[in-house]
Amino acid sequence: MEKSRLELIKGDITLLEVDAIVNAANNSLLGGGGVDGAIHKAAGPGLLAECAKLNGCETGQAKITGGYSLKVKHIIHTVGPVWKGGFSDEPALLASCYQKSLALAKEMKIKTLAFPGISTGIYRFPKDLAAIIAVNETNKFLNKNRYPEKVIFVTYSDDNYETYRKILAT
Ligand code: ADP
Repeated sequence: MEKSRLELIKGDITLLEVDAIVNAANNSLLGGGGVDGAIHKAAGPGLLAECAKLNGCETGQAKITGGYSLKVKHIIHTVGPVWKGGFSDEPALLASCYQKSLALAKEMKIKTLAFPGISTGIYRFPKDLAAIIAVNETNKFLNKNRYPEKVIFVTYSDDNYETYRKILAT
């Protein structure tokens, strides 16, 4: 595993000073609850105005904007799948969110990139499986690419931190 390039923290992703953070957005890209709401609130109205020009985003895809009032250069908005029991391609769609976000980060030569747990809130994706997919896809990408140089997984609760910690320790 590309351990030196992976980091795990617990906290609020909107407070980070990194090149880019990833937003767990919805198909409209016009803001919502959870981390999406927190990012739009902290970034300010300029973000919503830029997002409104993007024509939404399909599930499993990603689009990039500026960071506005956040201490980041870019925000990568990706739309995770809603968990519907696991038989609607949810794992592959979630893997795609990580792949597309990482590919955008590479294209923009982003050095440090922070991910929240895409789909693991309002979209109800099981946190253990989501963390395995997140680490797996990121690790595969970093093995083949120089950018992003570092990826930070940002967890918001104690149990989710432990889940990632165990996966990263194996
Ligand atoms: P989704 O709709 O993709 O499930 P949510 O925003 O509901 O997105 O939740 C995604 C994850 O982000 C959840 O694990 C939630 O606990 C976490 N989260 C919510 N707010 C923040 C925040 N400010 N910083 C980091 N993670 C957050």
